[in-house]
Amino acid sequence: MAQKSITILGSTGSIGKSTVDIIRREPDKYRVAALTGNQNVSLLAEQAKLLNAGLAVTADETKYAELKELLSGTAVRVGAGFQAVVDAAKEDADWTMSSIVGAAGLLPTMEVVKRGRTLALANKETLVCAGEIVMKAIREYHTTLIPVDSEHSAIFQTLEEKHRGAVDRILLTASGGPFREKDAAFMEKATPEQAVAHPNWSMGAKISVDSATMMNKGLEIIEACHLFNFPVDKIEVLVHPQSIVHSAVGYVDGSVLAHMGMPDMRTPIAYALAWPDRMISPTARLDFTKISALTFAAPDEKRFPALRLAKECQAKGQTATAVMNAANEVAVGAFLNRRIGFSDIVRIVEKVVEISPLDPVSTIQEVIAADGEARKTAERCLAERIKN
Ligand code: NAD
Ligand code: MG
Repeated sequence: MAQKSITILGSTGSIGKSTVDIIRREPDKYRVAALTGNQNVSLLAEQAKLLNAGLAVTADETKYAELKELLSGTAVRVGAGFQAVVDAAKEDADWTMSSIVGAAGLLPTMEVVKRGRTLALANKETLVCAGEIVMKAIREYHTTLIPVDSEHSAIFQTLEEKHRGAVDRILLTASGGPFREKDAAFMEKATPEQAVAHPNWSMGAKISVDSATMMNKGLEIIEACHLFNFPVDKIEVLVHPQSIVHSAVGYVDGSVLAHMGMPDMRTPIAYALAWPDRMISPTARLDFTKISALTFAAPDEKRFPALRLAKECQAKGQTATAVMNAANEVAVGAFLNRRIGFSDIVRIVEKVVEISPLDPVSTIQEVIAADGEARKTAERCLAERIKN
């Protein structure tokens, strides 16, 4: 059987490592074209050696010599700097995992789209900041797009294309994060350690904080609108603390098709890798006799205002969602660096959206400019917040 060539953008992160774990089990089936990372060059070099990668790139230019040294005596080519990451996305690969965190994933992901092959998309921020432009390019270049975010993989699997007109709602499940039962006073004082301690999923720091504010679910509402071309009011968030039902699609006859499985990202990654087939994955099997209860509740938008804010931004359009995303990245970074409190994150994002000009954007360059301006505005709001 012909080998499938693979690139992993963000191979050293949580999703990247899970992807490596899936492909290293069947090395004969895959040829690794490129791997990219950022600070953790020792892990990047280790992965590149393990998988015999053609190219290994760190986004951090200052790490070039270190990566080169770690890979000396191997056939792996080495690159460094953000442009080198973008170029790595142009390497010939049948299948690319886009798992860089944040809007930094936008340009590399666009390069994958332009190659017209298969894009496995974990980097939701790409759709939040430029969903209309990216989805248009996907159609233009006939790119196969397989969602990796567990909820969107679930919707992808339960949305019957032939019955698309008979869908009456998308049920997007949310664990509720580590602060699901905490009150506003607790959240004001919550620490980064508490915020990243997710009850069910092990993930990178940024998405873990997004999960705690429920901005992650806000981003996912927007992601779902773009991926499946549904209006925001068709999407209902459902808090489901066990994270067993990964999402569901409701039809006009009353049927609800749900997707279940253990909370392990290797399942949606394996789905995206094998599509349109299925493959064996090392994920633990779901044992129904061990699940005592599956519970569901409506989300509390008072304690988690990010949900309301994300829906409002989606209704305002792509510039508003790009600005919201950029401000969120800055505010989450400031919280992780202990410059602001947990509840300040969404306050700052809301403020930045309120005071930013929201002129329409129609190109990636315009999105990047709006993103840059929003980051500057967020820094100004942060400085003010810290002063007071
Ligand atoms: P992570 O922080 O663990 O990893 C991020 C990766 O991006 C690393 O390889 C890092 O080196 C790279 N990176 C960081 N900054 C970069 C930059 N400026 N330029 C180039 N590369 C850079 O993040 P993660 O948890 O793996 O999440 C990755 C993406 O997948 C996010 O968009 C997240 O929302 C999405 N996602 C993650 C999960 C999960 O379970 N972790 C689930 C669903 C979706
Ligand atoms: Mg998700």
